[in-house]
Amino acid sequence: MTDNIKRCTKCVLSASFPNINFDENGVCNFCRDEMYHTADEDVLDKSKEEIIRRFESGKGKSQYDAVMCYSGGKDSTYTLMLAVEKYGLNVLAFTFDNGFISPVAFENINRVAESLNVDLLTIRPSLKFMKKLIRASSFNPVYTKRTLTRISSNCNSCITMVNILALRMALEKKIPFILAGFTLGQIPLNTIIYKNNYRFFQDSRKPILDKLRKAVGDEIDKYMCIDEPLLDSVTEDPYNVNLLCIEEISEEKILEKIRKTGWTQPEDVDGCSSNCRLNAFNNFIHEQTLGYNPYELELSHLIKNDLLTREEALEKIQDKSETQVNAIIEELNITPDELSSLKEIYKKK
Ligand SMILES: [Zn+2]
Repeated sequence: MTDNIKRCTKCVLSASFPNINFDENGVCNFCRDEMYHTADEDVLDKSKEEIIRRFESGKGKSQYDAVMCYSGGKDSTYTLMLAVEKYGLNVLAFTFDNGFISPVAFENINRVAESLNVDLLTIRPSLKFMKKLIRASSFNPVYTKRTLTRISSNCNSCITMVNILALRMALEKKIPFILAGFTLGQIPLNTIIYKNNYRFFQDSRKPILDKLRKAVGDEIDKYMCIDEPLLDSVTEDPYNVNLLCIEEISEEKILEKIRKTGWTQPEDVDGCSSNCRLNAFNNFIHEQTLGYNPYELELSHLIKNDLLTREEALEKIQDKSETQVNAIIEELNITPDELSSLKEIYKKK
C-alpha cells in the first residue's frame, strides 16, 4: 500500500507535521538543522557512564535490582535481554495487559521471561474500563499537540499507566531502577536516565488527570496516581533508565538477537507495532485528528542514525490494515459521527 502524502525526501516527516517546511530539494527543516542531526554524542557518553556507575552501586541491595516495563514488543524484549545478560541485573518483568495484546505477543512474553529466567508480573485492568479510557483519549484533547508529535494519544494513556504502576512497584519493593524499552526518537535526550520523583512530576500531570477523570471517572486514579502514605515512606527515588538509547543497533540486528529466545513477530498487528492490536487504530485516530502518522518522528530519527533505511520506514508507515482498524472500531462501538468529529478535536479551544 502506498500513499500520496508529501514527505521529506531524506526522512519520512510529512507536510502535516507541526512546524515543517521543505527546501527546493524537498528536504525538511529538521533534516537541515544541524543541532537535530548530531545525536549529541556528548550527552550519550555521559548517560552511558552514569548508567554503568549507578547500576554498579545499586545492584544487589533489594529483592530485585530493576522492574522492567515489558510489553513483549521487539524493543522491550531486547532491552530485557540487555538488562539480564549484559548488565547482570536481577529483573522483575512487568507486563501491562490493556486487553488488546496480540496472543502471539503473550506467547512471546512467557517464552522470553522463561528463557531469561526472570519473574513476570501482569496487571490487567477491567476491559470495560480500558474501553472507556481508549474512547476518552481518542475523542478528547487530553494531551498537548507537542506531546503528540512523538506518540499517539491512546499509546500515551497506556504508557502513562505503565510508568505509574512500575513506579509504584519500585517504591513498594524498594527497587532502585525502572527500565523501559524506549528509543531516542520516542523520548527526549535528557530522559535516558533520570531520577523519578512522583511529586516533582505531579503538577505537570494534573491537567491530563483532570481531563481523564472527567471522561472515565475516579477509577483512573488506581492506575495514574500513587497514594500519599506510600510517597511519605520513600527514602530514595528510583532511577528510570532507557537502556536501548545508548545502544547503536539496527532493527534487523535486534530481531536477530531476540529470535534466540524464541520470540516471533505477531501477524495481527500493524507495521509499527510488535505487540498491540490497538496500534493500527491508534495511528488511524492520530492521522484523522492531526494529519500525520505518530511514528514519523521516531522512524526519521532511526533513518538519520543509519539504523533504518527510508524505504523500510515508509513500508512500516504504509502498512496499515483497514481490517485491524475496523475490528477495533467495532469492538469499541464507535459511530461514524464520532469518527467525523476527530478533525475538530484540536480546533475547538
Ligand atoms: Zn527530513
